[in-house]
Amino acid sequence: MTFAATVLTLYPDMFPGPLGHSIAGRALAEGRWSLEAINIRDFATDRHRTVDDTPAGGGAGMVLRADVVASALDSLGGTAPVLAMTPRGRPLSQARVRELAAGPGATILCGRFEGFDERLFEARSIEEVSIGDYVLSGGEMGALVLLDACVRLLPGVMGAASSGDEESFESGLLEYPHYTRPQMWEGRTIPEVLRSGDHARIAAWRKAQAETDTRLRRPDLWERHIGARVQSPSGAQRRTKDE
Ligand code: SAH
Repeated sequence: MTFAATVLTLYPDMFPGPLGHSIAGRALAEGRWSLEAINIRDFATDRHRTVDDTPAGGGAGMVLRADVVASALDSLGGTAPVLAMTPRGRPLSQARVRELAAGPGATILCGRFEGFDERLFEARSIEEVSIGDYVLSGGEMGALVLLDACVRLLPGVMGAASSGDEESFESGLLEYPHYTRPQMWEGRTIPEVLRSGDHARIAAWRKAQAETDTRLRRPDLWERHIGARVQSPSGAQRRTKDE
């Protein structure tokens, strides 16, 4: 089954853009996923091809019309979940990315201006997704981010080594830091343990680093990780909060 990505946008020329390069681009060329960018403007009904209008209640900017966007959406077949890029949405997570990557694909609505008429979300089954607590000028970059995160997880896209679950967020922790040659750079060496060849020691060091870095850099993730360990029935026997 090929992961089918459909993007609804006012700027279809932005796709595949960065996703035509490197890992995602190779996978696209190999047919491991497909990408279709649909111009929302093609579904406008007036001769000016209007897709937006002024906000009800007044205020700055323009709002994407529910009727035009819904027509674009309703023209699609397929079973992929429909996501809309919006800062008001649920923050994107690696867990959600994994679920999406395991499914049939994703249909992604890209907002512009002030965003979508809210009635769109009431009338259709749409999952609102945010890629972070900052405001972009459009949803296209968000769609690229989401798709890049999904595509790298598709079977055969990345080498087994790098798609493993040691990576940041997969275990609820940040990943440990990396080093490579030269062994001495600007008077700094690679941690001795990584040169020891002792795989057990290396694994223990990496685990400790991942935990310390997560605790210091992302107390929010650390709290959740600790909570999950204390609550999980298997973990509860072996590990406690005071460990
Ligand atoms: N008025 C909106 C911002 C609109 S920005 C607000 O304050 O919430 C225009 C479009 O960019 C949005 O419709 C959305 O599609 C996209 N966008 C902006 N920031 C985003 C974010 N953090 N995550 C996902 N999409 C975003």
